[in-house]
Amino acid sequence: RLSERLAKVAEYLPKGACFADIGSDHAYLPCYVCLHDHKASAVAGEVNKGPYQSAVEEVYSHELAGRIDVRLGDGLNVLKADEVKQVVIAGMGGPLIRDILENGKDKLGRVSRIIVQPNIDARTIRQWFYENRFCLVQETILEENGHIYEVLVAERGEPGKNYDHQNLQKQLWLGPLLLKENNSVFKKKWKQEKSKKENILKQISGSKQPDEEKMRRFQFELEWIKEALE
Ligand code: SAM
Repeated sequence: RLSERLAKVAEYLPKGACFADIGSDHAYLPCYVCLHDHKASAVAGEVNKGPYQSAVEEVYSHELAGRIDVRLGDGLNVLKADEVKQVVIAGMGGPLIRDILENGKDKLGRVSRIIVQPNIDARTIRQWFYENRFCLVQETILEENGHIYEVLVAERGEPGKNYDHQNLQKQLWLGPLLLKENNSVFKKKWKQEKSKKENILKQISGSKQPDEEKMRRFQFELEWIKEALE
């Protein structure tokens, strides 16, 4: 059974998807998608040999080698130009996902949709979308086995479309669509973050030479969280 987290990612792929799953590990996602949609095809990219080998075995075990090409390599380097229409990058930190997108920009020419699931710091990816003319079209937050995950979907287009023009930094950080929806998982996540931040802020202000800049940033962020939880 596919995790709820990856099932949500799969939901955002169109029928007949032709996509890359970068950092595919066991290739569970492309196998699931191709087993449920006989028109779908994928490239599964892995930078590490162990996970690459697991992906090859998983693909063979489902007799999907004709539709899922497993490739060893760094980020989007495994792709030829104009090879896929969607890119998935899931289960890594936001800054790593951002770097993979930034370093592989030349491979995104025909890519119309990017689906990411950052484990931490989704803000860095929203910022990258914003600066690279990708429009954030959907955001989901879900909880599974005690972890809270965010899934972000972007398409080529007007990057400011789903942001209102009040406080861009706050929206990049919390997620403009998640903020609007403000569901119980979102509230839970930001309640947890709020107490973490309050503790760190206490530690910083109690230290001998408090980092004023950092404290200011944290105070801003705490205000944004409080506003979101009101
Ligand atoms: N995408 C799967 C998921 O969401 O369940 C696997 C996530 S796993 C935690 C992250 C995978 O990304 C690892 O298998 C790692 O080897 C791979 N990875 C890390 N950096 C990468 C890069 N620059 N290019 C390709 N794969 C990478």
